[in-house]
Amino acid sequence: MQPNLLSEKFFEKAKTLIPGGVNSPVRACKSVGTDPIFVESGSGSWIWDVDGNTYLDFVCSWGPLILGHCHPEVMAAIRKETERGTSFGIPTWNEVRIAEMIVDAVPSIEKVRLVNSGTEATMSAVRLARGFTNRKKIVKFNGCYHGHADSFLVKAGSGVATLGIPGSPGVPEEIVQNTIAIPFNDKDLLSQVLDKEGDDVACIIVEPVPANMGVVLPDDDFLPFLRKITQDRGIILIFDEVITGFRLGRGGAQEYFDVLPDLTCLGKIIGGGLPVGAYGGRTDIMNYIAPDGPVYQAGTLSGNPIATAAGIKTLEILSRPGIYKKLEEKMDYLVEELKVLAKKYGVKCTIQNIGSMMTCFFGIEKKVRNFDDASSSDTKLYAEYFRKMLKNGVYLAPSQFEAAFVSLAHSLDDLEIALEATDLTFKDLK
Ligand SMILES: *Cc1c(COP(=O)(O)O)cnc(C)c1O
Repeated sequence: MQPNLLSEKFFEKAKTLIPGGVNSPVRACKSVGTDPIFVESGSGSWIWDVDGNTYLDFVCSWGPLILGHCHPEVMAAIRKETERGTSFGIPTWNEVRIAEMIVDAVPSIEKVRLVNSGTEATMSAVRLARGFTNRKKIVKFNGCYHGHADSFLVKAGSGVATLGIPGSPGVPEEIVQNTIAIPFNDKDLLSQVLDKEGDDVACIIVEPVPANMGVVLPDDDFLPFLRKITQDRGIILIFDEVITGFRLGRGGAQEYFDVLPDLTCLGKIIGGGLPVGAYGGRTDIMNYIAPDGPVYQAGTLSGNPIATAAGIKTLEILSRPGIYKKLEEKMDYLVEELKVLAKKYGVKCTIQNIGSMMTCFFGIEKKVRNFDDASSSDTKLYAEYFRKMLKNGVYLAPSQFEAAFVSLAHSLDDLEIALEATDLTFKDLK
């Protein structure tokens, strides 16, 4: 391992020009007590930093790269599309093709609108839900992250949780007054809240499998309960599948658990590593968006031909047989062996996984069902684990409250390498 001299130099310079030196807060690696590496390139399951170090990557750009870095077919599709132009602001056939792929794959989506990020997708879906129902309030769950739009910055997950920010200055109280945040998996409290305020609630937005407080599974009856209670009360149910979409299967969590929401938000994987988001759902609701309906939402670069080319190729590859089974088998194996190592070295932790994503919560030996449980994990120990794994050549999310992903590019040999690094790390964890 080379010293990270160039990364350090770049970060010093970056801090003079970019707030915190980064364009998204968690990248600064503050919670794990280190400075970021600067990356130069990636290939398959590996990344290289500017100092010439190699790391096995379990972040995969925070989820989008389910095929790994620089998948040859995706790269070829991007190259080919680039030669035709970069952006027109005029309809292109790619937009129709990817829309058809999304509608075919995701059970509840009948019509879909493309945007440029997950944040835009959730923000627009909530505006649509409010416009359609003519109600103001929204319900979200503590520790779920839905991007950084004003309404969602109440007990949010991901970087907000990592940095311990309760809400955010700059978000007027009048706005968050309309956001009701309650614990995930808490049916009783949700019933009580809706008994009182249900008539004012436009939507419930939820990560059907939260992955932004670490991976947390819904109780067996939780998602069906959400479906029923929203249906009974004319509330729109929004699944934020920005992470789970095309990850737990082509149909996302809604297919996996067989619970269909009214609206779905997508992002990450559907852009194949380029900036794309989408929201879609019931035709009657989607027709309420401009230009057919009164709810406004627009985007200069939305449906960008290059981004959609990367997305189309990615979704096409994901539709080939056996892919999701392979991904899940890899993660199951990794988790099983991690549990063995934790036991061997007496490392207190709970590992939760589904499909190709998992989180190892340090310092906890019970099921993590909500954000309070997740928050009780030993983040100092996670920080030490992160730094030692990095030294041992494995790149993990620089926060306890995120998921680790395996991609199609992670080979069995890669998993063995990761397990050896974990063995070394656990051996000398305090
Ligand atoms: C990443 C994420 C978002 C935000 O997407 P961006 O592209 O970062 O704006 C929203 N919801 C969930 C569940 C996410 O994981």
